[in-house]
Amino acid sequence: MKTYRGSCHCGAVRFEADIDVGAGTIRCNCSISSKLRLWSAVVQLPSFRLLAGEVEMTNYTFNTRTDQHPFCKHCGVHAFGAGKSPRWGNFFAVNVACLDDISIDELVAAPISYLDGRDDNWHMPPAETRHL
Ligand SMILES: [Zn+2]
Repeated sequence: MKTYRGSCHCGAVRFEADIDVGAGTIRCNCSISSKLRLWSAVVQLPSFRLLAGEVEMTNYTFNTRTDQHPFCKHCGVHAFGAGKSPRWGNFFAVNVACLDDISIDELVAAPISYLDGRDDNWHMPPAETRHL
């Protein structure tokens, strides 16, 4: 477990998160993860701490509106999302690409789990993952 600092592109949104990157990261084939090419690490409170930018974000929700997809209203970057699921409870999905002090070696070594969010089948990875 390591504490990372993260931010959006312009720096208006800043956070820190305690993440064990070696425990795994996720890529999902759901509509928003696909369009944003999200690569996330899931953490729960108190491992996610928003340091700045609450009022600099616009929130986006869709479908059941249980998951929150806030993004910076200045630069458009989605630094994290939040939701609730049977598997993770109340969780934050930290955008690994927004971690400012993670090393390339840590990124390369991070295991990836693939989720079949498109088919709402959270128990098995999708048949095809190479494009994610
Ligand atoms: Zn920004």
